Amino acid sequence: MNNAPALSLIAPTAEPIALVCDSPHSGTDYPDDFGYAVPLANLRQCEDTHVDGLWSGVPLVGGALLHAHFPRSYIDANRACTDIEAALLSEPWPGELQPSERCTRLGNGLLYSKTTTLTPIYDRRLGVDEVRHRIEAYWRPYRDALRTLIDQTRSQHGRVWHLNLHSMPSNAYERLGLTSKRPLADVVLGDLRGVSCSAAFTHCVAEAFESLGYRVAINDPYIGQDLLREHGRPDQGCDSLQIELNRQLYLDETTRECSARFERMRDDIDHVLQDIARFIRAEMAAP
Ligand SMILES: [Zn+2]
Repeated sequence: MNNAPALSLIAPTAEPIALVCDSPHSGTDYPDDFGYAVPLANLRQCEDTHVDGLWSGVPLVGGALLHAHFPRSYIDANRACTDIEAALLSEPWPGELQPSERCTRLGNGLLYSKTTTLTPIYDRRLGVDEVRHRIEAYWRPYRDALRTLIDQTRSQHGRVWHLNLHSMPSNAYERLGLTSKRPLADVVLGDLRGVSCSAAFTHCVAEAFESLGYRVAINDPYIGQDLLREHGRPDQGCDSLQIELNRQLYLDETTRECSARFERMRDDIDHVLQDIARFIRAEMAAP
């Protein structure tokens, strides 16, 4: 699907508050020039399918909601643009490459090289121009839109709270090659281990989900990625928190169709958003 917009930005429909939400991985428009060599159904396992729909109540509490249309397996807006394996390219990259551990071990860098079952996505190597196009036409517009939104909101209100929205597979520990004594939580909040977000805001969001019966874990197993590293600076007026929802709660993980519980989960998230809006209004009113 070429020429589709890279993203949507949904403005507040209520009195604006200092809340910016973004869903970088829920896109399902697979560009014609992707050139993958696996069944589409396998690639779709990488998506945070329907996360933008679950959080569609954001504008109703006065927040802004940005979401990507392109799939994260094509290019991942939540990775640094240097997070590329040289082995994926057909020619030398004309700049610095800094592949992360997730990139080299699991193939989950800027450009996914492997599916969730570690099958190679390509039967070819990618050209430099091809990768540059993905960066300039998809990655950069998303990154620029989020930065502009956060900066504008902060200059308008003096502070900003940023929710980076995701979903996680119900076998997340296995997928990451980790063992855990505890089962995967329903909701995993990530704040780069206390760096990207104030403890008070993390606590507010945890409590909002817990009060509705959800099991919440913090930084286990996901702590946050590049968008939190870029924006999460509580001392500079931006609290960034990553929220991972267990896909088992709202999705048929094989077909990517919403399950019968989707509506219930969206209603619950509407309640969470009301708690968050109350927290933000109270913080803004504090002397
Ligand atoms: Zn995600």
